[in-house]
Amino acid sequence: RPGVLWFRRDLRLHDHPALVAAAAGGPVLPLFVLDPLLWGPSGDVRRAWLVRSLEHLDASLGGRLVVRHGDPVEVVPRVAAELEAAAVHVTADAGVYGRHRDAAVEAALAAAPGAVPFVRSSTPYAVAPGTLKNGSGSPFQVFSPFQRAWLREGWPAPAPRPRTRWVESVASEGLPPAPDLGGVELPEPGERAALRRWEAFREELLPAYAGARDRPDKPGTSALSVHLKYGEVHPRTLLAGLADVPGEGAERFRSELCWRDFYADVLWNRPDSAWHPLKPEAEVPSDTGHLADERYAAWAEGRTGFPIVDAGMRQLLREGWVHNRVRMVVASFLVKDLHLPWQRGARHFLHHLRDGDPASNNQGWQWVAGTGTDAAPYFRVFNPVTQGKEHDPQGDYVRRYVPELRGVAGKAVHEPWLLPGGVPEGYPERIVDHAAERQEALARYARLRG
Ligand code: FAD
Repeated sequence: RPGVLWFRRDLRLHDHPALVAAAAGGPVLPLFVLDPLLWGPSGDVRRAWLVRSLEHLDASLGGRLVVRHGDPVEVVPRVAAELEAAAVHVTADAGVYGRHRDAAVEAALAAAPGAVPFVRSSTPYAVAPGTLKNGSGSPFQVFSPFQRAWLREGWPAPAPRPRTRWVESVASEGLPPAPDLGGVELPEPGERAALRRWEAFREELLPAYAGARDRPDKPGTSALSVHLKYGEVHPRTLLAGLADVPGEGAERFRSELCWRDFYADVLWNRPDSAWHPLKPEAEVPSDTGHLADERYAAWAEGRTGFPIVDAGMRQLLREGWVHNRVRMVVASFLVKDLHLPWQRGARHFLHHLRDGDPASNNQGWQWVAGTGTDAAPYFRVFNPVTQGKEHDPQGDYVRRYVPELRGVAGKAVHEPWLLPGGVPEGYPERIVDHAAERQEALARYARLRG
């Protein structure tokens, strides 16, 4: 009897243990369910990426991908019944919503005539979240010991692509059209593009990665986060490709992949930490009301008057991606200069980021806010001007995203208020005084600590 392979965050055919398990059992129906609960809150860039990635997957399946729309708890058992499937195979989802949804689908399948098994193989991570424990049997709360245990645990070699007989006879509702992005070019989605990107990064950028990864003005990082998010490539494949590469670049890159696993592990152990502070005692009171809303809007639209913040926020709206250094700067600005809750920023990021992932994103926000694991101490307040001058020394990054400042040469672009003619026309004045807000943030922190 045929089996169903339900694709979710694993939109590839190589190194795919759930496909291996499904193909071993007989013919395979490749299924994708467009879930309104995930599709609804996604911004246009995220939607465009998903649709195009699925188009690539469909092409590599010879046009056989079956797409159904609706609640997976109803749709998956219905497809399994239509096919009289022997099993439904998935890559286990470690996220909060995904675990909950999968438990409900599993229960619905078990209750259906024939009690169809729901088979989980592997996860989107090198080491399955929830696996590693410290010496006293508890989950890790700090990165470095987690990384040591992660390296000791290791991971299997990439699984070869199995010979697969695909089922052809089930109707598909098709994909929605990809939203029009108004001329913004996204990189190519899909498995083939992900593998090409990885090879190019390994050849050209990996040797210098450790030093170059902090420069938003230049291509120094892999840009693989979105491919990893949709599972167009599995971290196992990347880690296998790093195994014989010596040097600091490879070591640092391996460590970044470990951060991704770590944050998934933290969320797996503490599902509440998606939206609640891991350390509530460290959560500094934030502002509400009309002024807070105005400031939030200025931040979200990239008109704070601080060039690196505005460049980052405009890049987010335009491209659905922001360099890691700039994510930290804009997040710090929201929490410590504007005194707004990290959850507001995390929600905005998740809506727009094409790599938007509740584990990496929300734990990243908690890190900046000082409430998470290994948290940056709250008293560390990023200075948007010195961060700009240090990490975008010629100002090229700012000029790329802030057209009003394109006429300003060099690093002067980071302090337009010092220009002889004042702030160029059309660019906003600073909405706050950084030095004063830094003092305010520190005072709130001091009060919290009594
Ligand atoms: P590279 O430097 O090439 O790193 C390689 C891979 O390692 C990345 O693709 C990613 O999978 C992983 N990685 C790197 N840094 C981190 C990190 N700090 N935490 C977890 N994994 C990491 N990453 C996401 O994938 N999705 C998010 O929604 C997300 N939101 C973030 C929000 C904030 C406030 C912050 C500070 C960071 C966030 N990150 C997120 C982490 C990081 O910014 C991105 O993974 C990185 O910028 C992606 O670019 P890259 O692929 O070129 O990274």
